Amino acid sequence: MFFLKEAALKIVVCVKQVPDSAAKVVAENGRPNWGDAPLVINPWDEYAVEAALLQKEAHDGDVVAISIGGENAKEALKHALAMGASEAILISDAALAQADSQAVAEVLAAAIRKLGGVDLAFFGRQAIDSDTGVTPAQTARLLGWPVLSLVASIAGLDPAGKTIKVERSIEEGRQSVTARLPAVVSVVKDFAEPRYPSFMGIRKASRANIPIWSLADLGVSVHVRNTWPEVFNPPARAVVTEMISGGSPKEIAEKLAEKIFAEKVL
Ligand SMILES: Cc1cc2nc3c(=O)[nH]c(=O)nc-3n(C[C@H](O)[C@H](O)[C@H](O)COP(=O)(O)OP(=O)(O)OC[C@H]3O[C@@H](n4cnc5c(N)ncnc54)[C@H](O)[C@@H]3O)c2cc1C
Repeated sequence: MFFLKEAALKIVVCVKQVPDSAAKVVAENGRPNWGDAPLVINPWDEYAVEAALLQKEAHDGDVVAISIGGENAKEALKHALAMGASEAILISDAALAQADSQAVAEVLAAAIRKLGGVDLAFFGRQAIDSDTGVTPAQTARLLGWPVLSLVASIAGLDPAGKTIKVERSIEEGRQSVTARLPAVVSVVKDFAEPRYPSFMGIRKASRANIPIWSLADLGVSVHVRNTWPEVFNPPARAVVTEMISGGSPKEIAEKLAEKIFAEKVL
């Protein structure tokens, strides 16, 4: 039993362990290499955890964090626990080593079904290491739930009436969308600044016993449809630098404008 029995809103948050965003990634022998960069919780997923915790606090809810990955993905889960999630589950299986986003979605959907009674599943908008940004929609499709993507705020949530109203952040502005629960929500930065883990939270997380579910535990097998046999660096661009000098800012600006027109940039 992972959720508190009395929880009025059962929330799952999906978090991925990724290389630190400051890491320099290069392709080597057809594979991406992040050097010895530390692994961290996907930065977008901190916003998802924050969104989940805010709903938990507002609606007497309960939050379970789940991650698919190796043993080191426990660190992402511990971060979610330290922020305030109640429980965490690691899904780990050798068959998932080269999982594509569809396979990941199949496994996340199976885990969400196994947890039972979930009202809301929060995701980050994308993972910074492979950036497909499709996992939330794929998971929603498999669950048969509505997906509310790029959500910047929740304008209304009624756990008893099973409805949610959100504002999506899209290029043209904001869009108000309503849906029935259960639903999948992917979160953008505008939602709320993620809280720092509290001292008590860090202690709790460091002692947490995080269960590991295998594919057999979930009763699923995965079929990987996409492979990425080769990853390569973009071709180097030839760049010529020319310093423009002049007796006054006006003269420099005029020379610069001439060059811009000559090169047909404008
Ligand atoms: C070099 C490289 C290239 C790849 N190319 C492809 C490709 O072209 N097509 C493809 O289908 N797959 C590809 N993958 C695999 C893909 O990275 C994983 O399947 C991944 O877990 C899901 O895709 P994403 O990381 O882009 O997640 P996104 O869809 O960008 O992530 C959105 C959200 O989904 C959740 N999420 C994603 N992964 C996990 C996880 N493991 N555990 C818990 N929550 C998670 C998080 O909340 C995250 O913020 C590639 C992987 C690598 C290393």
